Amino acid sequence: SSIPKIVILGAGYGGVMTALRLQKQLNYNEADVTLVNKHDYHYITTHLHMPAAGTDSPENARVSISKLIDEFKIDFVKSTVVQIRPQDRKVILEDGTLSYDYLVIGVGGEPETFGIPGLKEYALNIRSINSVRLIREHIEYQFAKYKREPHRTDYLTFIVGGAGFTGIEFVGELADRIPQLCREFDVDPQLVKLINIEAAPTALPGFDPELVEYAMDVLRKKGVTFRIGTPIKECKPDGVIVGEGEEIKAQTVIWTGGIRGNRLIEEAGFETMRGRVKVDEYLRAPGHDNVYVVGDNSLVFNEEGRPYPPTAQIAMQQGVAVAHNLVASIRNQALKKFEYKHKGTVASLGKGEAIGIAFGKKYKGWTAAQLKKLIDLRYLFIIGGIPLVLRKGKFF
Ligand code: FAD
Ligand code: NAD
Repeated sequence: SSIPKIVILGAGYGGVMTALRLQKQLNYNEADVTLVNKHDYHYITTHLHMPAAGTDSPENARVSISKLIDEFKIDFVKSTVVQIRPQDRKVILEDGTLSYDYLVIGVGGEPETFGIPGLKEYALNIRSINSVRLIREHIEYQFAKYKREPHRTDYLTFIVGGAGFTGIEFVGELADRIPQLCREFDVDPQLVKLINIEAAPTALPGFDPELVEYAMDVLRKKGVTFRIGTPIKECKPDGVIVGEGEEIKAQTVIWTGGIRGNRLIEEAGFETMRGRVKVDEYLRAPGHDNVYVVGDNSLVFNEEGRPYPPTAQIAMQQGVAVAHNLVASIRNQALKKFEYKHKGTVASLGKGEAIGIAFGKKYKGWTAAQLKKLIDLRYLFIIGGIPLVLRKGKFF
């Protein structure tokens, strides 16, 4: 048939926004849209630090895709993409093949390990529902094991590698959880160590220094130890090597040292920088007018020539722009250039505490924590309306 086929890979922030906008804007029989995702749920990546630490249930960080999209308008395929073949206009899935006229790639990034030995093998990552369930269970198990071998305090040492926003948000949650775990397992809180290790000369490099200091104060008071200016050089089954060879013994290492583009992108032959595609002004892969890339796999530069950090915020705006450009292409109308509008950054520091910059103003403490809640509720509203806000929203 002559109906164009649109295939969207990944139901993350970018993919879901693209799908939701297409389902709203396309007329009946204007295009066939297929959304492919590894799981039959979308996960709210920006909440994953909570189920990882065990301060919230993993159920609150995921939403069934059938509740988000209209399956009369969009075909959902639960499958894993194993290869993208732009030259054949095909996508190979673990259990089949899809051909497309237009492709949207939104499969999300992967942990960047910078080739540091042992990180892939021995560190845990905050990336998905499955990965955070593992972290949560692993942490509880260390407390249980310690009770059997009370001389092994390395069971009670928790290392978080990287003090970017993911690392900071996670240590904030874990610091809240530790007193609970200590009560539950009858462990002396003095024995537990939560160490956040950062290579750069400061935590949250590039962020407002006054807010960074505030964040570190709050977290230190909750029991977090910072090792700043201290690169992790190696990860071993029983700890990490930092700086000039110092060894820190720990049975738990959580790597939050950054992310890179998905391996599928490089393997497809797209030109990449740290695994990401430097997209054109319409968000297309250079040399491929029918392939759009959104979210953590795309690289967009600001006026000063610096790349925007990969966030849910930019991924969502890209999804909106890509849907617009797909509809325009199908209707032979002009494409619109993507312009990112930065609304701000707010990061949680655990219960009742946060820092942020929004609307050109700095926020900290309780006010910032309320702002964070509002941002989270707003996202639920955008993708799933009031019913989703009521089912998954955190109001307190
Ligand atoms: P993702 O949201 O990563 O989703 C990718 C999707 O693709 C997933 O559904 C996955 O299952 C699927 N997938 C992956 N591989 C395959 C495959 N081979 N086949 C099929 N499907 C596949 N950003 C903000 O703006 N604000 C925040 O407050 C914030 N907080 C964060 C907190 C944490 C703890 C973390 C880890 C990140 C946070 N971020 C935040 C960053 C933000 O979550 C990411 O930038 C965003 O999720 C990227 O969206 P995406 O669309 O690229 O893909
Ligand atoms: P990141 O790249 O922002 O931070 C990684 C940190 O790890 C950096 O500070 C880096 O210096 C450090 N690091 C790298 N190698 C190291 C080593 N060998 N030893 C010790 N430290 C090392 O990654 P992230 O925190 O996962 O964030 C990813 C993206 O998601 C960012 O764009 C971020 O802005 C976004 N995000 C936003 C929020 C929020 O807005 N609340 C929360 C989480 C993540």
